[in-house]
Amino acid sequence: RGATPVPPVRQPRLTVLSGPSGVGKSTVVAHLRKVHPEVWLSVSATTRKPRPGEQHGVQYFFVEDEEFDKLIANGELLEWAEFAGNRYGTPRKAVLDRLEAGEPVLLEIDLQGARQVRESMKEAHLVFLAPPSWDELVRRLTGRGTEAPEVIERRLAAARVELAAETEFDVTLVNTSVEAVSRELLALMLHRSRD
Ligand code: 5GP
Repeated sequence: RGATPVPPVRQPRLTVLSGPSGVGKSTVVAHLRKVHPEVWLSVSATTRKPRPGEQHGVQYFFVEDEEFDKLIANGELLEWAEFAGNRYGTPRKAVLDRLEAGEPVLLEIDLQGARQVRESMKEAHLVFLAPPSWDELVRRLTGRGTEAPEVIERRLAAARVELAAETEFDVTLVNTSVEAVSRELLALMLHRSRD
């Protein structure tokens, strides 16, 4: 009698995409979602004001400072960080529900947030998105054209520090093309969920 094959245990995986501001994290994630709408991405809460075209509940939940204070006080955030004068945080419940259901979860967050997730969820897989070069990163950070010069300066300063954090991550993806990186990211997520 042949042994009944044991189905592989699906370990729900948490993939965290992080890296310097302006490296193209949100562009990569937007592309991935366009090509693979089934990929679930956590929607963060932020106190930042919406940029033109951004919608509440799509790119972010845009909240007032007092509401963000409440989210923290009630333990509703898996992690949160202050970045360039605004606060950003990951709603805890949606992420845990998804992992519980055995579905892969993708977070696109800054480095401070990635460190918090590493501490609280040991199974998290940390992916660092690196720019092809420093010059390219500066070009991208200054080219968005929607931020005030002092905001760009603050973001460049943060990016310099953030680049050095690559060594803390499990894997690095170099953002040479949006298509290539989204493919690699998806492969990482799916591979990890079948470990
Ligand atoms: P932006 O204002 O350009 O949309 O985002 C600024 C930075 O905040 C980016 O590096 C982005 O990855 C990060 N970010 C977005 N959502 C979150 C979050 O929920 N938690 C943390 N820690 N960072 C976030």
